[in-house]
Amino acid sequence: MKWEIHIRALTFVAIDFRLVLCNFISNFTTMKYSLKVNYLCPVCRAYLRIWNNIIFIVKSEPRNLHAILLLNPELGNYDLIHHSSIEFAEGEMLDFFCPVCRADLTAVELHRNLVRIIMIDENSKEFDVYFSKVCGEHSTFLIHEEDIVENYGEDSSTYVNYFMSRLKKRKPDQEI
Ligand SMILES: [Zn+2]
Repeated sequence: MKWEIHIRALTFVAIDFRLVLCNFISNFTTMKYSLKVNYLCPVCRAYLRIWNNIIFIVKSEPRNLHAILLLNPELGNYDLIHHSSIEFAEGEMLDFFCPVCRADLTAVELHRNLVRIIMIDENSKEFDVYFSKVCGEHSTFLIHEEDIVENYGEDSSTYVNYFMSRLKKRKPDQEI
């Protein structure tokens, strides 16, 4: 009887250990995979991603705010990390700058509400990533060779038509 209890206890321990190990491996695999995805400044090509953050300097001119903002490298994930003393208002327009060369990352060639950075995926394929500078506006585009590969966020429809017309202008020889 005593042994039976011990064996049952051991079985529970073994199951728990296996669950913990699975969780650990799955998290580790995900993180390892996504760490191969890099983000670069389009001007100086410095790496903007450190571990699980893309690092920017942001400014809000109307209230003279100047701060560091970390974005999640997973496209479509709109978690923001910033100092607890700072609050961003819904609808507030931020200007994004490269923390290395201080270039303004506004995608002036496409839309003044969008930021452009470069993404290099795990196969070394290069993309342009555009995302909204407006706080709370969830709109991200993954572009490869002038085509929208993917768009993310419930507000991306705001820019799709605009995007398509601008991209079409850049390649007048190709008809859709
Ligand atoms: Zn730069």
